[in-house]
Amino acid sequence: MKITFIRPHISHVPAADAMEPLVFAMLSSYLPNTIDVELYDDRIETVPLDLETDLIAMTVETYTAKRAYGFADEFRARGIPVIIGGYHPTFLPDEALEHADAVVVGDSEDIWLDIIEDFEKNHLKKIYRSTNTQSLKNISPDRSLFNNKKYSPISLVQYGRGCQYACDFCSIYSFYGNKNLRQRPIVDVVREIESLDTKHVFIVDDNLFIDREKTIKFIEALVPLNIKWSCQASIDIGADSEMLSLMEKSGCFNTLIGFESLNPKNLSQMHKKWNMKFGGFNDVIKRIHDSGILIYATFIFGYDNDTPASFESTLDFALENQFFLANFNPLTPMPGATLYSRLENENRLLFDKWWLDPEFKYGDAAFIPKNMTPDELTERCFSIRKEFNTYSNIFKRAINIKTNSQSLYHLGMYTLANMVNRKELYNKQAIALG
Ligand code: SF4
Repeated sequence: MKITFIRPHISHVPAADAMEPLVFAMLSSYLPNTIDVELYDDRIETVPLDLETDLIAMTVETYTAKRAYGFADEFRARGIPVIIGGYHPTFLPDEALEHADAVVVGDSEDIWLDIIEDFEKNHLKKIYRSTNTQSLKNISPDRSLFNNKKYSPISLVQYGRGCQYACDFCSIYSFYGNKNLRQRPIVDVVREIESLDTKHVFIVDDNLFIDREKTIKFIEALVPLNIKWSCQASIDIGADSEMLSLMEKSGCFNTLIGFESLNPKNLSQMHKKWNMKFGGFNDVIKRIHDSGILIYATFIFGYDNDTPASFESTLDFALENQFFLANFNPLTPMPGATLYSRLENENRLLFDKWWLDPEFKYGDAAFIPKNMTPDELTERCFSIRKEFNTYSNIFKRAINIKTNSQSLYHLGMYTLANMVNRKELYNKQAIALG
C-alpha cells in the first residue's frame, strides 16, 4: 500500500521560504514499514496529477483550503481517496467533506492508525475526531520524507502544543482549549535534535513558554547541544531575567513576538491586554535585545481603535527598534477564532467565505474596519511592509552590534532572512488563492 502526503500551497506561485512540513514526518513515523510513503510539497515542487498511489492525505490551513480542495477533487475524480486534516477542516469539517472522503478533526496521532485500518478494510468513516489528549511520548519524526527537497536550512522540532492565552483573532485556543496543553518528554526532543544534520533548530510551538517550570528545564537541556534555536514566545519572557539569560546561554537566536498593536484599547479588544503588563514594549524589547536575542515582531491592523495614523507610528516603532523581521498584517477573521463570530454578528464580513471567494486576494482586508475603508487597510498594510523592507531600511536595521550584526553568523542569517522575506512580500501580495 502507498500513501501520498500533499502539502498544498496558497497558490501556484512557488514559495522561497518553505520550511519542512513536520506534521508529515510525524504521521509517517507511526506507519508500519509495509506501507510506502511519499511527500509532494506544492510550495516547492509540482504535484503530479497522475500519481500512482492508494491514498492521499493533506493538511489544510485556511489560506490553502481552496487549492487543497482543487487537488482533492482532481484525485477523487481519478478514483484516489483523499483524507483531509488540519486547522481549517477541524473548524469546518462539513465544508472539507464536500471535497474529501474523510476528515480529521483535531490532532491525528491517536486516530491515524485507526484511519489506515479502516481504509484497508474499505470502511473509511466520514469524520474522525481526536480527543487532543494523546501523550506526546515517543515521537520520532521520519525526516527521510524531506530528502532531496529544497527547504530552508533550519530543522523544525516540536516540544509542546497549545497556548494558555486566548487572543480573539487566534484559533489555537479554540483548537486546544487551555486544558490540553501538552509537552513531549525532554529526553525525546533532545535525542531528536542530536540526530539532526542542521545546527539551527526552529522550535515550532505556538508559544514555547506556556509552562514556565517545564520550559526552564527544556531550555537547560538545550545548553549542552551547542545549537542555535528560534521560537515563538509571548511577551512575558521579556520580564523574566532568568529565562532570558538561559535562552542566551543555550543559543537562542531569535524569537517571534506578537506585539499586535501599540494601542492599549486595541489590545484590550483582542483580549491581549496582558501584552502591556510586563513593563511596556520598549523595556521588554531592550531586555530581549540586551540578551542578544533577535526579535521577529508581528503587528495587526484593523481593530476598532486603529486610524490611518496607526500605520506610520507602528512603522516608526518597528524601524527604531531595529527588529530582525517584522510583519504588518490586516486583521483576518479565521474560522474557529472568536473574532470571526464577532464580525459576523456585526455584519462586517465582506465575503461569505473569503478563503474560497475568487474576489479575495492574498493581503486583502476581509471585513469592514471602523475608521478606514477595507481598501485603505489593505493598501496601508502593504505600504508599510514595503517600507520596512526597502534595501535601505534592511541595511539600517542591520547596524546593531548587540543584535542583528553581533556575529558573522547573525549578520548572514539576518541578510538571508530579510532577502527571502522581501521577495515573498512581493510574490504573495494580491495573488489569487487556489
Ligand atoms: S499568545 Fe499567540 S498563540 Fe497564544 S492565543 Fe495569543 S496569538 Fe495565539
